Amino acid sequence: MNQHVSAETIKSRAGVPAPIAMLAELTHRCPLACPYCSNPLELETVRSELTTEQWIDVFSQAAELGVLHLHLSGGEPAARRDLLDLTAAAASSGLYTNLITSGIGLTERRIGDLADAGLDHLQLSIQGATPELADRVGGYKGGYDRKIAVAEWTHAVGVPLTVNAVCHKQNMDQMGDMLDLAVKLGARRIEIATVQFHGWAEKNRAALMPTREQVLRANTFVDEARKRLEGVIVIDYVPADHHSSYPKACMGGWGRTGLNVTPSGRVLPCHAAESIPSLTFDNVVDRPLSDIWYKSSAFNAYRGDDWMPDLCRTCDRKAIDFGGCRCQALALAGDAAATDPVCVRSPLRQALVEQAEIDSHTKPPAFVYRGFKQSGA
Ligand code: SF4
Ligand code: SF4
Repeated sequence: MNQHVSAETIKSRAGVPAPIAMLAELTHRCPLACPYCSNPLELETVRSELTTEQWIDVFSQAAELGVLHLHLSGGEPAARRDLLDLTAAAASSGLYTNLITSGIGLTERRIGDLADAGLDHLQLSIQGATPELADRVGGYKGGYDRKIAVAEWTHAVGVPLTVNAVCHKQNMDQMGDMLDLAVKLGARRIEIATVQFHGWAEKNRAALMPTREQVLRANTFVDEARKRLEGVIVIDYVPADHHSSYPKACMGGWGRTGLNVTPSGRVLPCHAAESIPSLTFDNVVDRPLSDIWYKSSAFNAYRGDDWMPDLCRTCDRKAIDFGGCRCQALALAGDAAATDPVCVRSPLRQALVEQAEIDSHTKPPAFVYRGFKQSGA
């Protein structure tokens, strides 16, 4: 244990586990413009980004805090010219490094260098199973072909590959083809996640909300594919919220397993947490990461069950889903401490499902693409 940890910090650790994973949003720059991007509506500029040295210090603090998995993400992390130095530093801090990328900005040589620097894993997003659809959803012509090349280069240097496929109304019927593509590319895992309606996705609800029929077909497909492809590829599936009975344990519970660091260094319990205006978030430039994790008001706001409404506090599932997503509760119920309206036990559930039904059957309007497109690098 670090000898400089104060008695106050040790006391505050009671009952709070160390985080397992950290998502480092190295930049919000991205050549793509996905209409469901999880980055906030207010994107951070290049001038506000942490420097190389600051990120390296954050990685070392994270390792000391107990973080095991580091997700190097964005925006597009390849837009950082220092990605190689950052990866090498993270690996030498003992962190398992996972690069979450659109693939744009990576070259065969850069992937080889990243592998040599200690990159443990690469997660490549795909937006569809055909160039036409993928490039339209991502708002980037030629993106699909580049992704195929990146997957091949990654496979060639022996870095394990996961394919990320966010599914929605306009690509859900290509789920089978996206899975076949992932197998063909040599991916060991595919993450099929139905779009979550926050931020950019909320702006694009009518363009993205899948129909109930699509969701039911997808659920059946995944069940069947998991059996058929056992031992070939692992399928992680996040089904649609609006057609599930219970909410997900968002982030494995608020402040329980992971943290996010924004490009400028603000530390968040989840990527959308800044949508809750009553919370203030500390910056790792001003306060040690360990202090923020154990002692900050934002991380302690929804830990335990004191904050829960009676419906959740007395519920037999509270240790499974922790009352669901706080950001979704705020967005849909107007109260971040409400039961997640996705839950069948919430009085707001019926209205939510009815609205989803309407959105899902609306003719898709044009996408509102994620704001600032920059080729970065
Ligand atoms: S625009 Fe697309 S590729 Fe870029 S960060 Fe957002 S979701 Fe990822
Ligand atoms: S009532 Fe709360 S704890 Fe129970 S299932 Fe619903 S969201 Fe989860």
